[in-house]
Amino acid sequence: MNLELSDEQTAVRELAAAFTDREVAPYAAEWDRAESVDRAVVGKLAKLGFLGLTIPEEYGGSGGDHLSYCLVLEELGRGDSAVRGIVSVSLGLVAKSVNAYGTEEQKRHWLPRLTSGEALGCFALTEPGTGSDAANLTTRAVRDGDHWLISGAKMFITNGTWAEVALVFARTGEPGHRGVTAFLVPTDLPGFGRTLIHGKLGLRGQATAELSFDAVRVPDSARLGAEGKGFSVAMAALAKGRMSVAAGCVGIARACLDAAVGYAKEREQFGRPIAGHQLVQELISDIAVDVDAARLLTWRVADHIERGLPFATESSVAKLFASEAAVRAANNALQVFGGYGFIDEYPVGKLLRDARVMTLYEGTSQIHKLLIGRALTGVSAF
Ligand SMILES: Cc1cc2nc3c(=O)[nH]c(=O)nc-3n(C[C@H](O)[C@H](O)[C@H](O)COP(=O)(O)OP(=O)(O)OC[C@H]3O[C@@H](n4cnc5c(N)ncnc54)[C@H](O)[C@@H]3O)c2cc1C
Repeated sequence: MNLELSDEQTAVRELAAAFTDREVAPYAAEWDRAESVDRAVVGKLAKLGFLGLTIPEEYGGSGGDHLSYCLVLEELGRGDSAVRGIVSVSLGLVAKSVNAYGTEEQKRHWLPRLTSGEALGCFALTEPGTGSDAANLTTRAVRDGDHWLISGAKMFITNGTWAEVALVFARTGEPGHRGVTAFLVPTDLPGFGRTLIHGKLGLRGQATAELSFDAVRVPDSARLGAEGKGFSVAMAALAKGRMSVAAGCVGIARACLDAAVGYAKEREQFGRPIAGHQLVQELISDIAVDVDAARLLTWRVADHIERGLPFATESSVAKLFASEAAVRAANNALQVFGGYGFIDEYPVGKLLRDARVMTLYEGTSQIHKLLIGRALTGVSAF
């Protein structure tokens, strides 16, 4: 794996860093309090090409490689995980799936809209009764001539109330993963309901929603991929998606490191900056090691994707480690801040709240341990 960034990758990283410092980080606390990111940020992300990374230019994308994508998501994650999540889902899970599985017509219709920010996408897999066990989903799509009628409910859907298109996974056949089909469903269709979820511990600025489908009618041309192959579409999206969560976690851990180092040099106790106390240095160096290790594991996934090597297990390893590392880093940073870490005036409380969900979504830490264990032993413990 080449650890030296190309000139192009360095430029993308600098662009994302400057954007984060100017347009994201200064507003993150305000958006958190208001429980909503300012939607104007979507157009700004699109303008810089951040909603079209890795998507071919002929469909409105900005091209680029997966390491560039990780660099951008790390920077955005450093500024506000709620903003990073908008990109991870709309581009990482939805646009990339359309690019990988869509018909020419679907690509021409949706990709220019998604990459320009005219439309946002959401990824609707989880249901009230099925989270980790997603293959048992119960939302149904029933054939109605050359159309489908979709009925059911989805839970915890990122971008749910913002999205113009939902990538919906529904049961069209037998129980289990072989009976699942994917559909691209415009969210303004009759019967499509959405309710914003309030009271989240973290990611408060993000539009997380419950979706409901009451016989939502879509043409067969809205099907993404073959009938019964929807679960493969979902798993392929998540294998890459986990890399983007991991990159966002590196960003969180970096924000923790910056905050902890800055505060430790200013705050004095026992007649000297707390940075001069060995146990405070231990907290800081533990965060630094987590940043480096999480980043290297994340970059390894991007490297495997670019070289056409298998990457699903590497992606699980990176997501498992980086998400746990982000929580550890935020906890350590809060400890450095002492009582001041516990109040809103300082950034580390929010970093800890935002970090906490990373070990839950796109596969919990337990599920990733089972995936890694299955890959190593050939035995499924599910
Ligand atoms: C803020 C937020 C945003 C989200 N965004 C999206 C989104 O955009 N799209 C989407 O589809 N979903 C989304 N999710 C859903 C998320 O992916 C699920 O919450 C996650 O998969 C876990 O499912 P669950 O919450 O139903 O927990 P459960 O599956 O009920 O798990 C509960 C606990 O049991 C453990 N567990 C379950 N099965 C096993 C097992 N076999 N062995 C060991 N332990 C096990 C889990 O690890 C966990 O600790 C989001 C969730 C949140 C909180």
